[in-house]
Amino acid sequence: MRLLARNASESRIQPAASMYMVVSSLPFCVSPSKSSIQAITFMSHAEMPRTELPAGLQVFERGWLSSNNILFIDANSTALVDSGYMTHAAQTLALVQHALQGRPLELLINTHLHSDHCGGNAVLQQAYRCRTLIPVADVLAVAAWDEDLLTFKATGQRCQRFTFDDSLSPGQQLHLGGLTWQALAAPGHDPHSFMLYCASEAILISADALWQNGFGVIFPELEGESGFAEQAAVLNLIEALDVRIVIPGHGAPFSDVADALERARSRLDYLSADPRRNARNALKVMIAFQLLESQQLPLPQIRQAFNRNRLMQASASLLDEPLDPLLESLTADLVKSGVARLQGGSLVSTR
Ligand SMILES: [Zn+2]
Repeated sequence: MRLLARNASESRIQPAASMYMVVSSLPFCVSPSKSSIQAITFMSHAEMPRTELPAGLQVFERGWLSSNNILFIDANSTALVDSGYMTHAAQTLALVQHALQGRPLELLINTHLHSDHCGGNAVLQQAYRCRTLIPVADVLAVAAWDEDLLTFKATGQRCQRFTFDDSLSPGQQLHLGGLTWQALAAPGHDPHSFMLYCASEAILISADALWQNGFGVIFPELEGESGFAEQAAVLNLIEALDVRIVIPGHGAPFSDVADALERARSRLDYLSADPRRNARNALKVMIAFQLLESQQLPLPQIRQAFNRNRLMQASASLLDEPLDPLLESLTADLVKSGVARLQGGSLVSTR
């Protein structure tokens, strides 16, 4: 059963008696195009056994800009994994409030601190005073709100300042939704990122380490750090686990894990064979993200972003092409792929 609900920009959230809800999104980390809120009710065990989620777990599949949010509810506790992008924070709060039906959100966990995964933290903290866990390697940067260490400034994205109460370390166990989850380090896309694995249900919350079609930009490689090897190791780790369902950071939960791993490996081989491919992809993703946020970007503004944003600069120097032809070919690619159109010297979002 598939229910179409209201547009994401509207304030009322359609009630959904489901475990899994599609809200709208393209990631900073890229995936499917959805423009409206959809709620999908999972079928009975017999009809969809491999994708059935446990009763204490709900996935809000978000639209453009925001990561998915995973909400855990059991008799004793409530928790949310990842909070979406800042400009969608009100919608994140509305989704959580609706699902919690008056109960407070007690715990907030970030798989990693990219702006599309932690941009709703501040609003949720204001609403609930929820305890917040962040990756252990990001503790100092968040405590000092060090804009150079955090990735927001380097990518031209925004994130409202938030606080944390504790850290998440490799191997740490968490009790969420009546189940035991283990935090697994997942460097590659982001050196500090985690996945969460529930062995008893064979469910993996993969963040941006594995999507149904690919994975997030391998950011460390843009600045000369290792990332491809780490990403390969993370894919090997996932293969070694018993995984029935993957809940990715973007896109719908999926169960064809072997196929997804094969696609991811093929993509990784392609990128690592020539790091300029990773740099070019990163630039398109960063421009597309800014375009989604502002909906319209004059080309001179994109040009300026190359001077302002460290990771755009690093990507451009890896490509070692003059800026104007580079910009021209990147915008042509974005138009060709259908995410934008050119209008009067500006890129205009089609999403
Ligand atoms: Zn990410």
